[in-house]
Amino acid sequence: MKKLLVMSMIACMAFSMTACGSKEEAPAQAPAEEGAEAPAEETPAPAEDGAEDAAAPASGDKTWIIAMDTVFRPFEFTDENGDFVGIDVDVMKAVAEDQGFNYEIQSLGWDAAVAAVQAGQADGLIAGASITDERKASGWIFSEGYYNATQTFVFPEGTDVSGLDDPFEYLKGKNVAVKNGTAGADFANSLKDEYGFTVTVFEDSPTMYQDVILGNSAACVEDTPIMADSIKVGNLALEIPEGMESDGAPYGFAIMNEANQELLDMFNAGLANIRENGTYDQIIAKYLGE
Ligand code: GLN
Repeated sequence: MKKLLVMSMIACMAFSMTACGSKEEAPAQAPAEEGAEAPAEETPAPAEDGAEDAAAPASGDKTWIIAMDTVFRPFEFTDENGDFVGIDVDVMKAVAEDQGFNYEIQSLGWDAAVAAVQAGQADGLIAGASITDERKASGWIFSEGYYNATQTFVFPEGTDVSGLDDPFEYLKGKNVAVKNGTAGADFANSLKDEYGFTVTVFEDSPTMYQDVILGNSAACVEDTPIMADSIKVGNLALEIPEGMESDGAPYGFAIMNEANQELLDMFNAGLANIRENGTYDQIIAKYLGE
């Protein structure tokens, strides 16, 4: 466990300095023992719950390390009781119970979670990760999709683009906030030359939203269901305009290392079962009221 923390910390530093906030003092080449004293927040307390709550595995069974985002509601977020909850958290738990495997959640943030799986320090990723051809081509192996989502541009509340033929014209000469390494960032980057806007990259969703609310950026790009829920729950002064969405893609659980195919197979089998027995619908209803 300690070794794992160190390894994921190093991976995190190697791939994404800014995502690692408080870890910058930890020496990258620390021997395991020293490194093990690194900040405890690397593995948030709520993660323990997920592991304990998972189906009782035979002792000696492998504990799969599952990397997740930090704030991506309603798929993952910390609730008012300080518990790490969300659709991804509940789906993972239900699948693990169904399949009888043990797991531990590491809530690392989007690009740190991606980096942890790429570096082999986490076995799988569940973080509202869009299944894209580019990601598959770069070595990601996805489960069946478990939720469809588009990406959308998002404006400050009251932004009026009604006089424009094309709402994207509003962005000419302005800045758009995106989250590092996301499908939303790809969507913005694919349009910036055509519409003449610049792009600024943020490490997490809440900071990106704030940049728009504070007026530093004219818009941000976020997954549509995430933005809708975050506006509603956080009472954010933001709005989702019409007609500025990507084609979208399903979210999938993902691995990179083919040696973890067993985990992916269990995820797919468990997902099929929880769709069949109604658990999946209950989870969606619990968080989205759908
Ligand atoms: N669905 C988006 C993607 O896959 C964003 C994921 C996230 O920010 N957690 O890139």
